[in-house]
Amino acid sequence: MAASLRTFRALARPARQVRLAVSLPTAQQRLHSSKHPKGFEPPTSEDLDELRERVQEFTRREIPEEVAAHTDKSNAFPNDMWQKLGDAGFLGITADEDVGGLAMGYQAHCVVMEELSRASGSIALSYAAHSQLCVNQIQLNGSPEQKQKYLPGLIAGTSVGALAMSESGSGSDVVSMRTTARAVDGGYVLNGSKMWITNGPDAHVIVVYAKTEPEKGSKGITAFLVDTNTEGFSCARKLDKMGMRGSNTGELMFDSVFVPTENVLGKVNGGVRVLMEGLDLERLVLSAGPLGIMQAALDVALPFSHQRRQFGMPIAHNQLIQGRLADMYTKMQASRSYTYATAKAVDERGVIRTQDCAGAILYAAERATECSLDCIQLLGGMGYVEEMPASRLLRDAKLYEIGAGTSEIRRMVIGRAFNKEYANA
Ligand SMILES: Cc1cc2nc3c(=O)[nH]c(=O)nc-3n(C[C@H](O)[C@H](O)[C@H](O)COP(=O)(O)OP(=O)(O)OC[C@H]3O[C@@H](n4cnc5c(N)ncnc54)[C@H](O)[C@@H]3O)c2cc1C
Repeated sequence: MAASLRTFRALARPARQVRLAVSLPTAQQRLHSSKHPKGFEPPTSEDLDELRERVQEFTRREIPEEVAAHTDKSNAFPNDMWQKLGDAGFLGITADEDVGGLAMGYQAHCVVMEELSRASGSIALSYAAHSQLCVNQIQLNGSPEQKQKYLPGLIAGTSVGALAMSESGSGSDVVSMRTTARAVDGGYVLNGSKMWITNGPDAHVIVVYAKTEPEKGSKGITAFLVDTNTEGFSCARKLDKMGMRGSNTGELMFDSVFVPTENVLGKVNGGVRVLMEGLDLERLVLSAGPLGIMQAALDVALPFSHQRRQFGMPIAHNQLIQGRLADMYTKMQASRSYTYATAKAVDERGVIRTQDCAGAILYAAERATECSLDCIQLLGGMGYVEEMPASRLLRDAKLYEIGAGTSEIRRMVIGRAFNKEYANA
């Protein structure tokens, strides 16, 4: 399918060039190049609709409800999914075409993330950790050699990626991390541990942040590409979580792990920039996760409330039920608009607004928890039993209020962005 998606983009290209030439000022066209692959052209709404249909075909075939339920119950990622996602072309949506990517941008990445999340929250979370947190970080910050070495395998699905910044003692306050990277002949030696790392138990390559000069605080952090077959690296344990079960999450240990100089990602002591810029786009793409979960809640609640009869009529004919369904629907649509408007600004104008990346996931995540609770309530007793997916949706949705910075931190990020604007006013 990757090839057919590429063909479809190539065919669509002349039309888009004409449209762009008239719609975007030159300065804006230049802007989107820094966060997009070479030769990137923003997709049209027809491109995005076509992509969405292709992801839906994929999820119908590869992630039916039985696969999603089994992934949750077994708490194990279906490992053959990486190859299938790679064959479909979904693992390199934002990456250069010459390393196998589709160069389609962030709206497209949100489309894939939304539709995968609609099928299975946990498979989609692992997908995003791989394709956004790892692949896109290498795409944005990697040297040509690093891209050539790591991206083809990651995009084909023959290797698995992750990103490790959080530690047991530094989550929200991530720059207080204690993992160190000591300079030695030919590279660095990493010591420390990382906590809650998505794909950590399965990953072949991990973007790891460590302190190269601890005394410099946030200015002494560097990002590294760590091959997990390096001596001294281990996954101490896989975590047993309430939700996102099957998205394998691990605690990682670094016991004198040697990383060669050529595996420094970005600049030495420039890690905080890599981390913070990465976080904006990570929050944006992850905000499509709760969108998919809200749609999944409606996928369950709408047919159920029209089939389930009480007092001689479908429960959906009661106004209290209609009110709940209407609230679910409008919350989903409002969240969707915010996410895609923010992604469109990145793709078409190169504008990455920190407050909107944080705002989109803040809003969508809290609404997804509410919608999944609504779904449980609408289903009554069936909402409370595990044979229906409603409880899984709630358990999965709650993660989005915690991972990629908690709701509290997102509110702080938005407040600080205002402070910056007003300080410069
Ligand atoms: C399933 C899962 C997957 C994850 N995947 C990854 C991954 O792939 N890579 C990675 O690096 N990390 C990952 N994380 C870690 C995640 O980013 C952190 O858990 C998150 O940032 C919160 O950090 P913490 O758990 O240490 O909470 P803490 O920072 O200890 O916060 C505890 C509570 O205090 C609140 N709080 C903290 N500081 C403030 C403040 N100043 N004002 C108000 N409230 C505050 C928080 O909002 C929260 O409610 C994952 C976590 C989970 C659960």
